[in-house]
Amino acid sequence: MHERMNLTLSYDDVLLQPQYSDIRSRSEIDISTDLGRGITLELPVIASPMDTIAENTMASAMAEYGGLAVLHRYNTIEKQAELGNKFFRASHSGIHNRIGAAIGVGEDFMNRAKTLVEEGIRLLCIDVAHGHHQMTKEALQALRDEFSDTVHIMAGNVATLEGVNDLADWGADSVRCNIGGGSICSTRVQTGHGLPGLQTIFECAKTDRDVKIIADGGIKNSGDMVKALAAGADAVMIGSMLSGTDETPGTIYRDSDGLQWKSYRGMASKEAQMEWRGKYSSFEGVAARVPYRGPVGAVLADIERGIRSGLSYSGARDIAELQVKAKFVRQTTSGLSESRTHILTRSW
Ligand code: IMP
Repeated sequence: MHERMNLTLSYDDVLLQPQYSDIRSRSEIDISTDLGRGITLELPVIASPMDTIAENTMASAMAEYGGLAVLHRYNTIEKQAELGNKFFRASHSGIHNRIGAAIGVGEDFMNRAKTLVEEGIRLLCIDVAHGHHQMTKEALQALRDEFSDTVHIMAGNVATLEGVNDLADWGADSVRCNIGGGSICSTRVQTGHGLPGLQTIFECAKTDRDVKIIADGGIKNSGDMVKALAAGADAVMIGSMLSGTDETPGTIYRDSDGLQWKSYRGMASKEAQMEWRGKYSSFEGVAARVPYRGPVGAVLADIERGIRSGLSYSGARDIAELQVKAKFVRQTTSGLSESRTHILTRSW
């Protein structure tokens, strides 16, 4: 029998206590983040490497706005390199380091990595569901040997401090943290494994290694982003918050009521697996339709305003100060209903 059951918290279980502030304008607040090896973001937000989120159009928009997108890997090496090439055509050199590309750990990962780096990509992301794994170790060590310190290597996903430390020791510069929390993810249902998203960040941020923490999956709004950054994340990674926008791959379709939709799906969903390898094994994600939402710039502008405002409520001028000052409190279920807008559900 297991003796110890740890209490774990997620985003909706906590709030940040408002604190004294002497910040007169939100423009005094710096929300930039330095991920290392030449990758600095003005907006600490990264678009997920998913085939309904991140191709060259999203990458250009994210980079222009100060964030970054990681090109998904569910295509041929040539096709992924072409997406990178289109990004470099379409963007000015000042933002050329604000793009990443995902690779796996299977047979062709080194060829894919070399082609992407030749194309100009300086951030590679080892994108696997269970990153705390022998194959990630082998891939990280091989990539570090190949590229020494010329490339930023992101890896994941992991859910524990031990996972972060191991990946850092094997060569990762940043680690995607969270298993099973994504909006389209069914890993926890399918396998019983995972840890609530915010708890994962609290744990992973205890690392004493020189590694950046990326809070990935399950982030629903800018409030969750502020909580993740306050808990120790250096940046957040999002899929659903960007879904349905013009810059995502895929077409807009209209239903019989005239409503417009785009698709958003987990990369381990049956649908995605069938499309990119013609068969499926364990499926740990779902496919969904989401409302069409117009240009991503408006979404990113709201996110930016929300994060700036969030820092000002903690009296923090930058992310590092937020992490020192943040005071988390737990909220009850009634606290959570009070925290959400509740006029629409009130019975008069
Ligand atoms: P969201 O921002 O909550 O929509 O979560 C996006 C994140 O979910 C991605 O960055 C991945 O880490 C994760 N993810 C993507 N596809 C799948 C899947 O099929 N199963 C589980 N997790 C997934």
